[in-house]
Amino acid sequence: MSTVFSHSRLSSFENCPKQFHFRYIEKIPAETESVEAFVGKRVHEILERLYVFVGQGMVPAVEKVVHRYHALWDETFDPERVRIVREGTPLSFYRGLGERCLRNFYQRHYPFDADETLALEEKVQFQLDAAGRYRIRGVIDRLVRAADGVIEIQDYKTGQRVPSQKQLDKDRQLALYQLGVGERFPGEPIRLKWHFVSSGQVRTSTRNAEELEALRLETISLIDRIGAEKEFAPTPIPLCSWCEYKPICPAWTTRPPSPPPPDADEIPSWTQLDLL
Ligand code: SF4
Repeated sequence: MSTVFSHSRLSSFENCPKQFHFRYIEKIPAETESVEAFVGKRVHEILERLYVFVGQGMVPAVEKVVHRYHALWDETFDPERVRIVREGTPLSFYRGLGERCLRNFYQRHYPFDADETLALEEKVQFQLDAAGRYRIRGVIDRLVRAADGVIEIQDYKTGQRVPSQKQLDKDRQLALYQLGVGERFPGEPIRLKWHFVSSGQVRTSTRNAEELEALRLETISLIDRIGAEKEFAPTPIPLCSWCEYKPICPAWTTRPPSPPPPDADEIPSWTQLDLL
């Protein structure tokens, strides 16, 4: 039986083969999660819940949405598990960041009737080849029929950085999902849409058939590379501080390298940390 890959799994290998090895081969459970991942999960859960209500013809007031977020925070926050990587940043900053994400989203999209929700937190699974040796899965935050009839694959990002259009036009995650969604909606136009909720910005991109075919081949090639990998060498990167395996990583436990200063642009987004 071949392994099912996700965008997160592929990215983990690209970022650091050792992290990939810890996470997906040794399957060492993570004892902590970054506060950024915690906030991202809570925001995703609240937005999902918001659209469930909208689908039932009820649009909750923004204060209700925010109240629910704080209640969910209190229900799920575990100080032993959630860690703040950026020293000196108070927890209240992150709690406020999640609230800001929700207020921005609400303000921009109220009364949430500009499009039709087809599915929330929709699982996609598909194969890249006829034999089924290369399989992909993922979760789409919201699958939508937009007002112009186009199918949209929508994703919420709680990270503070908004990538350039050029970067989004090369983004793999949603384009991979398009390969799966395209099988459900043959011949229909599909658009990729990102909601950068911490700044209230929205970006879109599209892929043509040639680009999707190139992505399919590149992904097969990457999966082959992972399959042939023997070393899984650690690759210290600025994101090491957010890596749950840093306390046991040989790159840090045997001869600690000078850590590159964390770059605000490289705070991991929720999807980078989403383990499928
Ligand atoms: S701490 Fe850094 S080098 Fe070590 S596994 Fe994690 S990402 Fe790789």
